[in-house]
Amino acid sequence: MNTTEPTPASTTDYDVIIIGGSYAGLSAALQLARARRRILVVDAGHRRNRFATNSHGFLTRDGQPAADIAAEGRANVAAYPNVGWHDGVATAARHDGGIDGHAFVVELDGARTVRGARLVLATGVRDDLPHIDGLAERWGKSVFHCPYCHGYELNEGRIGVLASGPLSVHQAQMLPHWGHVTFFTNGVCSLDDAQRADLQARGVQIDETPVLRLVNVATVVLEDGRQEIMTGLFTYGRVHMSSPIAEQLGCAFDAGPLGPFIRTDESRQTTVPAVFAAGDAMRAASSVALAVADGAMAGVGAHRSLLFGVTPFAAPMMAVASSASALATESSSASATESASASHSGAR
Ligand code: FAD
Ligand code: MG
Repeated sequence: MNTTEPTPASTTDYDVIIIGGSYAGLSAALQLARARRRILVVDAGHRRNRFATNSHGFLTRDGQPAADIAAEGRANVAAYPNVGWHDGVATAARHDGGIDGHAFVVELDGARTVRGARLVLATGVRDDLPHIDGLAERWGKSVFHCPYCHGYELNEGRIGVLASGPLSVHQAQMLPHWGHVTFFTNGVCSLDDAQRADLQARGVQIDETPVLRLVNVATVVLEDGRQEIMTGLFTYGRVHMSSPIAEQLGCAFDAGPLGPFIRTDESRQTTVPAVFAAGDAMRAASSVALAVADGAMAGVGAHRSLLFGVTPFAAPMMAVASSASALATESSSASATESASASHSGAR
């Protein structure tokens, strides 16, 4: 594992430690680097889209290799002398006092610790894919989850939707704008009459025969011996946090249709004061563009909280607190956060 550190003002202290150095984390890092803060980016290097060759839908980088976009982002950030980088895993994090009551100790690779005044969690999610023979190795190549990312390139061909749960009906309803759709319910999805009628009205063919495996590009082999040749296949997996750190810190989560995500407010602060989150880890619907936007906001949010003091969850962003009132708020921030997050969850 390799760490490069900016000229340290004090041994291992950073203004902000960013955990996750992909699109969201890099975007947060860029704002903070340009604000001349001392930052450390910790990245294990397992981007969610590493299975896909090209990334689509991110303005100015449409269709480019996903790895190139991340590498160029890293080069942008590394150009600033106040940025440190650690190739490795943040194995744990805990709250640990600090000058303004907010500091965090982050353990790197289970070996050593660093301290930061603010944290940005940009750790992303991992996909738990349906267990169908031949599916995992086609993930990101001819099996996808997001039509906006990979639908266009299927050239209005034959598109399969493989059911993995109730949300798959929604996926089958969307895909006809991208091609001729067959919905393989595979015993996972039982359709009521209204859903059946809706899918048929959209031109979706419904196939209820159990799916055995995928072969060739995206050919679906069915239990009755048929082989349906598809140009591409769409399916949903369950998503899980890539890292347990948000849970360790006590961040609140919301339930998304495919798995939990970290609750954040407008400034991308989590329900734990001074801890921010960005990207797939904090939103149900995800993309590179959204991760970059969230990251920019989390970077600015973390910087504002260094400038003006920690604010409670869901405090109005542009209300400029005097330092004194911001510090007064902090002492009661734990209880304020609880009540603010309780009312916020109802609105979500
Ligand atoms: P990620 O890119 O997943 O990065 C998280 C980073 O955090 C990783 O590097 C990981 O190793 C690191 N990390 C996690 N935990 C730790 C830890 N404890 N310590 C250190 N590092 C840690 N979106 C598009 O816009 N266009 C597309 O074409 C597209 N194609 C996709 C294809 C596939 C197959 C998949 C699965 C997704 C695709 N996406 C696409 C979605 C896109 O990948 C995500 O929205 C995006 O990667 C989210 O960025 P992120 O920075 O939040 O998380
Ligand atoms: Mg990231």
